[in-house]
Amino acid sequence: MSVQNIRERFFPHIWCPGCGHGTILNNLLHTVQELQIDPSNMCMVSGIGCSARISGYVDFHSMHTLHGRALACATGIKLTRPELNVVVPMGDGDAMAIGGNHFIHACRRNIDMVAIIMNNRIYGMTGGQYSPLSGEGILATTAPYHSIDHAFDTVKLATGAGASFVARTTTFHVKEIVSLLKKAFAHKGFAVVEILTQCPTYFGRKNKMGGAVQMLEWYRDNTAPLGSKKLEENPNLIPRGVFVDEQRPEYCEEYAKIIAKAHKE
Ligand code: SF4
Ligand code: MG
Repeated sequence: MSVQNIRERFFPHIWCPGCGHGTILNNLLHTVQELQIDPSNMCMVSGIGCSARISGYVDFHSMHTLHGRALACATGIKLTRPELNVVVPMGDGDAMAIGGNHFIHACRRNIDMVAIIMNNRIYGMTGGQYSPLSGEGILATTAPYHSIDHAFDTVKLATGAGASFVARTTTFHVKEIVSLLKKAFAHKGFAVVEILTQCPTYFGRKNKMGGAVQMLEWYRDNTAPLGSKKLEENPNLIPRGVFVDEQRPEYCEEYAKIIAKAHKE
């Protein structure tokens, strides 16, 4: 099914006007189409949250699972059907709080799938609570005077936990989303792609950032590509690009060797 057909069949969606999640879905669909992956060879597994509703808008095999448990379900699917392209979109709370333990262990196992962290720095669906990626000084429903919690850096966390592919971009950089997702799908191993995205309804409104356009402009002005002059001149900007791209033994292949060994005995 083409991107156009999917749009006609499944839209309108439930996300608020200006939400960045639709941009991520759109560019994920373009990636799958450009890579000419048969949708029947795709499997999307999501947890709970605004981001997790993404699995309702694809014509892939899909599972809308428990909060924070998408990677655990996806691991089971991939081990039993290793030929499938498994993609796991998660919100910042879903991936890094409720699912934080599953995330670090999926990174160290190096199982072949694409984990997309849709990071809008807030719990959108439940009303704007701060998440492990909000950071200090952020206003949220549960931090009316401001958050004092230091945020995880997704890239550093994934790298430290052993992910063999780690990248970051934003919803402002739509072509970069497609190019990084293409690399992530081509990678054999656990690929983490963090996409900084906007929740104008809660994060934007509470932190007086304006609407979606102003939030996208913030990503334009406060990020820079790795290795760029802009980043060199202002190291406080958030770096974008591919941070890790390594070949390491992949979990399903190693597991298949164990099964073969067991059959011989
Ligand atoms: Fe998007 Fe925020 Fe609305 Fe959820 S609450 S759909 S994250 S804008
Ligand atoms: Mg969120």
